[in-house]
Amino acid sequence: MREAFRLCTIFGIKVELHISFLLLMLFFAILNPRVFFYLLLLFFFVFLHELSHSIVAMRYDVKIDKITLWPIGGVASMERIPKDPSQEFKIALAGPSLNLLVALAILIPLWLAGGLSRLFPFSQMAFAPDPVSIAVIILKVNLLLGAFNLFVPALPMDGGRIFRALLAMRIGFSRATDVAAWVAKGIAVLMFLAGFYFNIILMLISVFIYLGATQESQATLVSGLLSGVKVRDAMNPQAVTVSRDTSLEELRALVLKAKHTGYPVMEGGVPVGIIYLSDMEKVQRGEWPLWKVERVMSRNVPVCSPEEEALEVLLRMHSRGVGLMPVMEGGQLVGVISHTDIYRMIEIMRYLKG
Ligand code: ZN
Repeated sequence: MREAFRLCTIFGIKVELHISFLLLMLFFAILNPRVFFYLLLLFFFVFLHELSHSIVAMRYDVKIDKITLWPIGGVASMERIPKDPSQEFKIALAGPSLNLLVALAILIPLWLAGGLSRLFPFSQMAFAPDPVSIAVIILKVNLLLGAFNLFVPALPMDGGRIFRALLAMRIGFSRATDVAAWVAKGIAVLMFLAGFYFNIILMLISVFIYLGATQESQATLVSGLLSGVKVRDAMNPQAVTVSRDTSLEELRALVLKAKHTGYPVMEGGVPVGIIYLSDMEKVQRGEWPLWKVERVMSRNVPVCSPEEEALEVLLRMHSRGVGLMPVMEGGQLVGVISHTDIYRMIEIMRYLKG
């Protein structure tokens, strides 16, 4: 079952809608077209917000694989975490700035036209199909998105990233993350309690912040343990390979011996594809003797080099959704690396680095 559906690709970034998001939209489209319209507007600006982060990130050579829209917001998947605090600062600032700029671009003409009273009461999103009402709604949506993301200093929200970046300039990345994660968890608890009195959405967001902050501090722990660890240190130099016309039945025997989860498919010394255990599932067990590897292998093979940081390769595996990569050096296959190899290395470094 697919979890996310591709909407479009923009600047090389895939834009995906998570299935829970689609179901929510469908629900409101049928039940309450007015709420549907607000959500559509809201998520259009959530998308622009994420795009704005992504464009700045790409300027620092941080590759963005995709933007996924969830019911709770958008997520831009970065291939690596920018370690330079000033880069993280600018990337985090880019999202809310866009929303505040949009709000300002509406606020000024509204003010000049003497229409500021249309903003109040603020919590009321009165819908009328005239351009001024729609502009007021767009203004409020962007003001809320921008301010909430910018001024709540809780990781993984933008305000928390900015806070972490400012701290990191003084006390280093990993200690800054520890402090920022504790602050975020404190804010999450307060927000959860406030949710009882004000709005249940606050409770939802607080859970998202708490889990996100925990994940962020774990990620920092892992990146600390893996710092300086290269692919060469963690990889398996004995790659087990197959050829295009190996049958799935032959592969089965090989898997039982080698116990790898992926096998580069070689032709003339270079990998032309890779077959993962999950590819074998595409064919019924009884037909394995008749099927050649070539027909079910994955052709777009993500590869890495032995000199790359193991952490970056791990993040790339996650963002590409693969568990194993061929390691190439000077056009030659020199090994394979799986996420299990890297996890084992994390475990080892936990003891060695104390
Ligand atoms: Zn953001």
